[in-house]
Amino acid sequence: MSAKIVLATSNKGKVVEIKNMMNGYEVINYTDIIPPFHIEEDGDTFKQNAIIKAKAVFEALGDNEAIVLSDDSGICVDVLGGTPGIYSARYAGVGAGDKENLQKLVESIKEVGFETSSAHYTAAIAIATKDGIFTVHGHMYGTAITTPRGDKGFGYDPMFIPEGFENTLGELDDEIKNKISHRGRALENAKAVLDVLL
Ligand code: IMP
Repeated sequence: MSAKIVLATSNKGKVVEIKNMMNGYEVINYTDIIPPFHIEEDGDTFKQNAIIKAKAVFEALGDNEAIVLSDDSGICVDVLGGTPGIYSARYAGVGAGDKENLQKLVESIKEVGFETSSAHYTAAIAIATKDGIFTVHGHMYGTAITTPRGDKGFGYDPMFIPEGFENTLGELDDEIKNKISHRGRALENAKAVLDVLL
């Protein structure tokens, strides 16, 4: 199958993972077509924010035939009442990078008196087309630790051990992460939608 999917994201880690997992589709980023622009992610859920991003890029492209795919994702830590959740990208403040966000999460878990916590990642994917917007989700459960290990993946990966594993996502190969991850699972669901649409 050869269909062009336009990604609505500026997160480099996501772009790499999504492109690797979208075999058979031509995947390009919206910034390869139009200049990047700020999208206010003011939804209350991953799903709402994914829809906001996909819609904003679909409208900005002005191409009725475009198929735009967005990903809104984050990590929810149980001993922190499910935070940072939808605020994962800006946990250490607007403009903070992956390292600062990870450090802040490590400190927050320690501050409430824990060394580890059950946690999960969520990915909501929205697909915007002229026929409407479609959404799917994927989850990955595991343990957040306060002694990060490894430099693979991105974001909070060095401090997350998936259920059934002993290594962090920072230590596991990309192929393994892609098979079990929230994004990998959401993308499998997204492909089922795309196969109907295309
Ligand atoms: P978004 O771009 O607003 O959806 O924010 C996503 C944020 O959630 C990222 O910047 C990371 O902090 C975190 N995140 C989402 N998915 C992953 C992942 O697969 N690994 C590590 N961190 C992730």
